[in-house]
Parts: sequence; C-alpha cells; structure tokens
Amino acid sequence: PAPERTDFIRNIVREDLASGKHTHIKTRFPPEPNGYLHLGHVRAIHTDFGIASEFGGDCNLRFDDTNPAKEDPEYVEAIQDDVHWLGYEWHDLRHASDYFGVLYLAGEKLIRDGKAFVCDLNAEEVRATRGTLTEPGTASPYRERSVEENLDLFRRMRAGEFPDGARTLRAKIDMASPNMNLRDPALYRIKHVEHQNTGDAWPIYPMYDYAHSLSDAIEGITHSLCTLEFEDHRPLYDWAVDNVKLHEHPELLAPLVEKGLPMEAAKPRQIEFSRLNLDYTVMSKRKLMALVNEGLVDGWDDPRMPTLQGIRRRGYTPDALKLFVSRLGLSKQNSTIDYTVLENTLREDLDGRAERRMAVLNPLKFVLTNLPEDHRETLTFSNHPKDESMGSREIGFSNVLWIDADDFVEEPPKGWKRLVPGGEVRLRGAGIVRCDEVIKDDAGHIVELRGWLDPESRPGMEGANRKIKGTIHWVDAATGIPTEFRLYDRLFTVPNPDDDSEGKTYRDYLNPESRGVVHGYVEAAAATAAPETRFQFERTGYFVADRRDHTSSRPVFNRAVTLRDTWMQ
Ligand code: ATP
Ligand code: MG
Ligand code: MG
Repeated sequence: PAPERTDFIRNIVREDLASGKHTHIKTRFPPEPNGYLHLGHVRAIHTDFGIASEFGGDCNLRFDDTNPAKEDPEYVEAIQDDVHWLGYEWHDLRHASDYFGVLYLAGEKLIRDGKAFVCDLNAEEVRATRGTLTEPGTASPYRERSVEENLDLFRRMRAGEFPDGARTLRAKIDMASPNMNLRDPALYRIKHVEHQNTGDAWPIYPMYDYAHSLSDAIEGITHSLCTLEFEDHRPLYDWAVDNVKLHEHPELLAPLVEKGLPMEAAKPRQIEFSRLNLDYTVMSKRKLMALVNEGLVDGWDDPRMPTLQGIRRRGYTPDALKLFVSRLGLSKQNSTIDYTVLENTLREDLDGRAERRMAVLNPLKFVLTNLPEDHRETLTFSNHPKDESMGSREIGFSNVLWIDADDFVEEPPKGWKRLVPGGEVRLRGAGIVRCDEVIKDDAGHIVELRGWLDPESRPGMEGANRKIKGTIHWVDAATGIPTEFRLYDRLFTVPNPDDDSEGKTYRDYLNPESRGVVHGYVEAAAATAAPETRFQFERTGYFVADRRDHTSSRPVFNRAVTLRDTWMQ
C-alpha cells in the first residue's frame, strides 16, 4: 500500500520512483562507533529504515569507522543491539573500513586525473593558508606536483614511510571557493594507529567526507539522509562522487570482490533534515561520554541518560520512541522539543499496553482488627481497566496490609479525600475500611494504623456501593514482596543545559534529585515479572522491572514516568 505519511524526503523518494530515476531505493544508517546511540539517533534510524521499508527498499547499517583513535568494538555491539531493539533489521552490515582498499584506489585515480595532490604542509600551515569567509585561501606550494611524484608519495604514505601528520592527500578543487569545505580539503591523513576493524593494515586513513560519500556510492545508496550540519559538505560529497565515478569504474571495486563483498555502485543523493533536540537534555556523544567518564551518572545505561541503552532501562518502549519521532516529522528547521512531549508519548503508549499492579512505595502498616490473625484470601483483579483481553490476576488479602503513608493524615487539609483518624476509605478492590487507632513510637512517628473492614462492603456485595470519597491502593503484607523502587527524574534542572554563556557547563546544571531510591512492597504478580516488564502501579506511575538488577525474590523497579506531568519549573 502507498505510504500515507508525507514530508519533503518522502516526496523526493516518491518522485524518483515515479519518474523511473530509481526502481529500488536504498538508504543507510551510518553511525560512528565512538559512543552510544541517543534519542536524536532515533530520528535518523526511523527515517533511514522507515523510508526504505515503506517504499520497498533496503537500508544498510554502516559503521562510519574512519577515525580509529575514538572507536571501540563495545560501541559497535551496542549500536547493533539498539537498532534491533527499535525493531529494525538491516539489509547489509558494513563498515566504512571495509572499503579502505577501494578508497585508496580512488585516491590514486584522483591523482592520475590531476584532481588530488600530496601536500607537505602540516595541519597548522594548512589552517593558516585556508583563508577566511571573506578572503580566499592561498594555494599549497605542493599543488602543482607531477602525477608521478604524487603517486609515488601517496604509495609511500600508504607503505607507512612517513610519520603522523607529515603529509596529506588533498583534493585539488578551489582555494577561492566561498565554501571552505572546497578549499583543497584533505582526503587522507597519516595516522599510525591500530583500527578496531582493520588492525594495523593501514597507516593512512580517509577523511570523513571522502569516505562517507564514496561508501554511499559503493553500496549503491540512492538517498543518503543526514542531518543539516552536512548541508555545507554536500558540494564536497558530490565532488567526490562525480570525480571518482565509481559507478563507471567497476575496476576500483576489485578489493571488494577479493573480500567476497561484490557491490553495485551508484550515484547517491544526499538530503539533509534537522536534528532532533530535546530540552533538559544534552545529546552530543562527547558530552554523554564526559558524564560517564566523570562518574556523574552510573554508566551509559544509567536510566537518566538519553542514550538508547539508558532510555530503554528507564522503561521507554520502542513504539513510544517511534511514535514520538514520527509525530514530530521531518523538516529543514532546527528546533528544540519539550521534554514533556516525549513523556506524554510514553504515557500514552503505556496507558494502553501496561498491565496494572499495586505497589506501595512509602509503606505504613494497616492492621484490620476485625479479621482473624490468620485471615488469608485471594481476590481477582483485572489487569487493565479498558482491555479485558489482558486478563486478570490473583492478589492475596490478609488482616495486615501496607498502605502508602501519604494516603493518611491526622489533620486533613481542606478537600482531603483519603484516610484520617476515624474516617473511611475504599481499599481498591477489597472493601471499605475505617481507621480507628494511630500507633506511634516514642519519637511520635506514626508506625501503624489499626482499623475495621466493613464486612458488608466486600467486592460484589450490596454494601460495596455506598458512597465513599477516596480510594487508595494497598499491598497485602502476607504475600507482598519487599521491593526497591528507583525514582528517576530529569537529569538537568534547566531547559538548556548546553548554555555555557555564564562560564558554566552542563555539569553545573545536573539535577541532584534526578535519582532517589525508596523501599516498599509490590504484589506478588509484579515481583514475578520478567526484567523489562512495564506496569502501571496504580495511582503511582509507570515502572519497569530493571533490566539488570530485578529478580522475583529481590524486585527492582525503575520509574519510567509519573502518571501526570509534575515537573515544576
Ligand atoms: P553526536 O553529534 O551526538 O556525536 P553524530 O552526528 O556525530 O552525533 P553519528 O554517529 O555520526 O553521530 O550519527 C549517525 C547518524 O545519526 C548521522 O546520519 C547523523 O546525522 C544522525 N544523527 C545524529 N544525531 C542526531 C540528532 N540529534 N537528530 C537526528 N539525527 C541525528
Ligand atoms: Mg558523526
Ligand atoms: Mg559527533
């Protein structure tokens, strides 16, 4: 069926298919494995994979691993895990480093065609001769080297004869171009660094723009979708594609055939969309890395982190994330989204899918004195108030219960509907109780309530219908399980933690109350849930059984989101 969703990128794809420019589209998601994926990447993943599948095409996962010093196999693993978790399957898994052989041959071709030269200027000298936005740059004194000399030097760079930074291979484009990226940009640099995929096979590494554009061409990518900051790089992207012309030079692909990776090159088109930004969040891998390395959070999968590993552990669902980004759509306009919009999407998703359970986070003992001490019964509760297909469960009920201490006050404020001394309240699904006695310790703290369960108000009885103002949740003390609840909140206290205008950094805006731990009880049917099961704890919030630490005997639940927006500015 024709996709209903539309935006400027889908329109381009649709036209390219209608006009016959392409009969089959191909996209790619190209993360650099130098950190964990974050919420912003969900927009890119959803766009790259989503568009390919909507139009019957393919999407590759490609690790843009051209900067060996910062990359690590740990990230390569985690990124694959994240993409799968979001529910996407890649066509081919590739590394830009798979193409180092082709990129090298393409470099020789550019030299032979008089379009690239080996430059002996060091990084500082290159910078000094680049010019400015208003002044053209100065040509390198090495720009007019002969093809033979360039080839010889490039081969010796590749053979490892020169130290780091001694030479570069530069494109010969235009030192007066208003686009700085076209002022004879470097295509290759010397770096004697071991690479996580190619080991020590290469002492030279291709620069990002060169490697990226040609990798797209090698894979036959038709639509290369990326974020707006690459708009200025598009002329260089096109320059590399148009001057190397891989699609007309299959001989350059020989190194891939040798590796058993035959590919059909094509001429890709780069299209840019805006980055996803969220308030109360930092979303650059560099800053997230600093939070981890400086011990300001508990690792990449800290549930407060905007990494996919973190947000997953926090209890977010892939569907909520996909709904979030698809509602925002695609545009060319950068903007910052309210964190509340993300939270509301999760609430909406979990409201429909999360089974209900009861949990008491701040327990206060309530003894029902008119039940015998060995009173034990089982009550049946439906798992979801609006969806019978989600079934029901059994909850133990005895003469001793846990209620939430916040549901009781001695001196009720105006409008209070819950429990007070001498007052009545409905226990969710169990009957109406009255508080008769408040027991305190020597310091005057309330340690226990005692009261009476109206025997005529049990579920299904006529007396259950009498009017009672408040309903509270509870957990049976005989069968409930002691539980750790981790209460998370926003990691930053200000909407724009990236604002460093007053000499501050995002570190200064960390929310000291973004993580709290309390101990209480859950009903047995929550404790036995598998890790990553999400529940709505009635009247309390949406929680997830912690992916790492939860067990049935020692449950650990993370608060994904409160029931309503309670953030105070
Ligand atoms: P960061 O700046 O956080 O380090 P990056 O852009 O360097 O991110 P890459 O691994 O290079 O991260 O990103 C892979 C793809 O994801 C790129 O196509 C990039 O455009 C896209 N992407 C990264 N961040 C965002 C974002 N905030 N919103 C949308 N797409 C993003
Ligand atoms: Mg990048
Ligand atoms: Mg980056």
